[in-house]
Amino acid sequence: MRGSLAEARTRLRAVFGLRDFRPGQEAVISALLAGEDVLAVMPTGSGKSLCYQLPALLGDGLTVVVSPLIALMRDQVAQLRALGVAAAALNSANPPGENRRVVESVRAGSLALLYAAPERLALPETTALLRASGVRLLAIDEAHCVSQWGHDFRPEYLSLGALRAALDGVRTIALTATADAATRSEIERKLFDRPPRVFVHGFDRPNIGLAMRAKRNAERQLLEFLDRHAGHSGIVYCASRKGTDDLAGALAAHGLRAVPYHAGMEKAARAANQDLFLREDGVVVVATVAFGMGIDKPDVRFVCHANMPQTIENYYQEIGRAGRDGLPAETLTLYGLDDMRLRRAQIEESGAEEERKRIEHRRLTALVALCEAPRCRRETLLAYFGERSAPCGNCDLCADGVEVVDGSVEAQKLLSAVARTGERFGTEHIVAIVRGEETDRIRRFGHHRLPTFGVGADRSRREWRGIVRQLYAAGCLTLEIEDRGRWGMTDEGRAVMRGQRRFEMRRDAATSPRPRRAAALPVADAALFEALKALRRRLAEEEDVPAYVVFPDRTLIELADARPATRDAMRGVHGVGAVKLEKYGDAFLAAIAAAPPRP
Ligand code: ADP
Ligand code: ZN
Repeated sequence: MRGSLAEARTRLRAVFGLRDFRPGQEAVISALLAGEDVLAVMPTGSGKSLCYQLPALLGDGLTVVVSPLIALMRDQVAQLRALGVAAAALNSANPPGENRRVVESVRAGSLALLYAAPERLALPETTALLRASGVRLLAIDEAHCVSQWGHDFRPEYLSLGALRAALDGVRTIALTATADAATRSEIERKLFDRPPRVFVHGFDRPNIGLAMRAKRNAERQLLEFLDRHAGHSGIVYCASRKGTDDLAGALAAHGLRAVPYHAGMEKAARAANQDLFLREDGVVVVATVAFGMGIDKPDVRFVCHANMPQTIENYYQEIGRAGRDGLPAETLTLYGLDDMRLRRAQIEESGAEEERKRIEHRRLTALVALCEAPRCRRETLLAYFGERSAPCGNCDLCADGVEVVDGSVEAQKLLSAVARTGERFGTEHIVAIVRGEETDRIRRFGHHRLPTFGVGADRSRREWRGIVRQLYAAGCLTLEIEDRGRWGMTDEGRAVMRGQRRFEMRRDAATSPRPRRAAALPVADAALFEALKALRRRLAEEEDVPAYVVFPDRTLIELADARPATRDAMRGVHGVGAVKLEKYGDAFLAAIAAAPPRP
C-alpha cells in the first residue's frame, strides 16, 4: 500500500478535522501502510473505523468494508459523505436505482470506500465486479461475527475467506471489540491464510462512570438516576420484552421521552423508535439486548441496566455504547438475587454441554463478584480482561469510599442457619430465622427452636440480604436450582462457618449509598452551547441527517469555549475538516458573533 504516515496525519487534520491519532490508531495504520495484514482488537468507541477510513484515502483503489448491519453502513456512509469522502453502500435497503449507480461508480473507479454485507459480497457478480475494479484493502468490521461461539455469529462471515482468496489475498484488516482470546484465534484462523499482525488496545474507558446497585424499587431507582440526566440521550436495558414495554410506559408517564425497542415489535415501529433516538437529543430507549450493535451514536450520555446483564462481556459491550465521543458518561446497573437465580436457571436449561455450562456458571460468578466488588469496579472489571490498574476515582465504590470490614461473625450466623436447615431453603426463610421472625413456615418446620434463631435480630432484612449476596459472590454459598433458589454450602462456606477462614465484606453491603451527581458536560457557557445545538438541529433537519453528522457535541463545546471569530480560527477545532468548514463555518461563526459576551 502506498502512502506515508505523515500524509495520513495531514489527511487526519484536513478531512476529519482531528488533531492527532488516538493511542492504537497510529500503530495499526502504519502496519497497513507497510503492507501487513492486521487484526485490531480495540474497545467500542476507541476509533476503529478511522484505522481503515484513513488508509482508504491515501492513493488510488477501492477499500471494501464488510459490515454486518445495514443501519451501521448507512450511518458510516452518511458521516463520510458529510466529510466530503466518496463512500457508498451496496445493500437491499437502498432506494431503487441506487445499487446500479453504486456499481457504476465502482466500475468508474470514483469511489474510495464501498460498504457491503458479507452475503452481498459472496454473490458471484459482486465478486467479479470487485476483481475487475482493483480492490486494495479489505476491512472486516465486527470480525467476531465469524466466531461460532459468540452471541453475534453470522454464518455469512465464513464466506469471507473465499472472497479474500478471490481477490488474490488482498491486504486485510479485521476489527473487533471482543477481547476474548479464544474468539481472537478463531478470527485469525477463519479470516486469514497467513498470521496477521495483532494489535490489542487497552480496554479502559475512563470517561464512563461505573455504578451498580442492589435492586430495591427498580423503577424508583431508575427515575432518580434519569431525573439527573434530563435532556440527555440514553439507553435502559431490560431483560424481557414485557419488562421493556412496561418500563418505557412508566418512564413516559413520568414525562420522559422514552420509547421501547425489542425484537417482538412491529418492524416499522421499531425502526421509527431507533431513528428518533439517533436523530434527536434527549430520547431514552428502553430496550432488550437486541438494541445496540450498529448503534454508532457518539453522544449517548448514559446506559442503565434495569436487570443484571448476562455476563461481564455483555456488560462491557453494553455500557460501552455510552460516551463514544470521550465526554463524561454515566452508567447504572441494578441487580438482585432474582436475576442471579434466573440466569442460573437459563444456563441449566440451555441444553448446552456440561463443559459449556461449567464455563457459563463461572462467568456468572465473576459477574456477581463484580456487582458485589469490595474495591474499585474498574479495577475488578479490567482485571477480568487481564489488565492491571489502580483505583479509578470514577466509580461508585471509589466515590463512596467502600470500607471492607470483618464479617466473619455475620457469615457464621447465616451459614449455620443454612447448614442446620439442611441446605433446603431460600433467602427469605434463612433471613427470617437469623432475625428471629416467627412466621407460620418457621413454626411448621420447628425452626424457631434452632440455636441460630434470632441471633441476628440487630440487622434489618435488607442488610441480611446484602450479606447473602456477598457470601454468594465470595463463593461461600451456591444457588441450587432444582428447588427455586435454595442455598447450598461450598467448602469455602464450611471453612468460614467453622471459623477456619475469615470473611471480609463491604460495610455498605446493606446501607444505601449516596446518589452520584450527574456528570455535567465540561462547557463554561451553557447558553451559547444550547444556541449552537439549536443551530445544529436546524441544519440536521434541513439535510435529513442525525445531528452528530453535522458536528459532534465535542465540536460545539470547543466552539462555545474558544469562540472563534474567523474561519481560520475555526479550522483547528475538533471535527472541523475542510468540507464542513466550507459548509457550516459561516453559520456557526454568525451564531457565535451574535451571542452575548461570556457570562
Ligand atoms: P469504534 O468503531 O471503535 O466503536 P468509532 O470509529 O465509531 O469507534 O469512533 C468513535 C468516536 O471517536 C467517533 O466519534 C470518532 O469521530 C472519534 N475519533 C476517532 N478517532 C479520533 C481521533 N484520532 N481523535 C479524536 N476523535 C476520534
Ligand atoms: Zn473506581
